[in-house]
Amino acid sequence: SIPLGFFAGIGTASKNGILIKGSNYLEALNTVQTAVFDKTGTLTQGSFSVTTVHALNHQPAQLLTLAALAEQHSTHPIGQSILAANQTPLKETLTDVQESAGHGICGLLNGQLLQVGNASWLQASGIQTSTPVEIGTSVHVAYQQNYLGYLIIADTVKPDAQAAITQLKQVGIHQTIMLTGDNQPVAQQVSAHLGIDHYQSELLPQDKVTAVAKLTANRMVNGKVVFVGDGINDTPVLARADVGVAMGGLGSDAAIEAADIVLMSDEPTKLATAISIAHYTHHIVW
Ligand code: ADP
Ligand code: MG
Repeated sequence: SIPLGFFAGIGTASKNGILIKGSNYLEALNTVQTAVFDKTGTLTQGSFSVTTVHALNHQPAQLLTLAALAEQHSTHPIGQSILAANQTPLKETLTDVQESAGHGICGLLNGQLLQVGNASWLQASGIQTSTPVEIGTSVHVAYQQNYLGYLIIADTVKPDAQAAITQLKQVGIHQTIMLTGDNQPVAQQVSAHLGIDHYQSELLPQDKVTAVAKLTANRMVNGKVVFVGDGINDTPVLARADVGVAMGGLGSDAAIEAADIVLMSDEPTKLATAISIAHYTHHIVW
């Protein structure tokens, strides 16, 4: 039988907009020592805007339109921001479109390959990219194997992201980690700003699963591991952690389904709130 105190804990959590799918997760939260966060949409707003267009041989507006021609086939927030910034009507569509998670999108425009995505992905197909001086998510563009330049896309950290990390330390979390598909300078800047202990950048969705699996395998060092994500490409990671926490507002339906705990307000500070409730509940139950 489930001790009565757990119902009180789950009820208190629910009043705070924290949906806990079972008393076992409340008890698991009680012994969590490592908190792992996705970056985009979890610690940051996940709503991007184009801040720089660096075109090598074209007008900036033309490069933006070329990128938009590819991104009109994408639902990724980065693609949406490029479409929003583009001022020119899109008169063509691509054929043979392929979107690669954590990489970018490509397809044929007038029978020729158009690639829009991150530097390492373009480099893997033999394109030499320039290194942006600006810190931000960079999206590089190549057409017919010719490198045409890049766009810089900015996201902003959530207003409570810094408090979220501070509060986790206050409730006894030993280490905080950020995992991201974004580039190293962005990961470095965001994690330093928020006071996160460790980060890993340029991860593909399956790399995040591996990273969390490594942490959970080393229980002696890491204790139990909680992962918080917005769920875009992160559903397998939510399942891999001891406790998977999804953002309820921004998160995808699949993520909300896969998660053990859902934060209805998308505020990362709610993780520390949930852990406090877990500690208190454990204290009154046992
Ligand atoms: P995160 O791990 O921060 O949530 P994602 O795994 O969704 O990010 O994406 C990682 C990186 O892959 C992005 O920072 C971007 O460089 C690239 N990328 C993904 N999708 C697209 C797209 N549609 N257009 C351009 N670049 C993309
Ligand atoms: Mg994400």
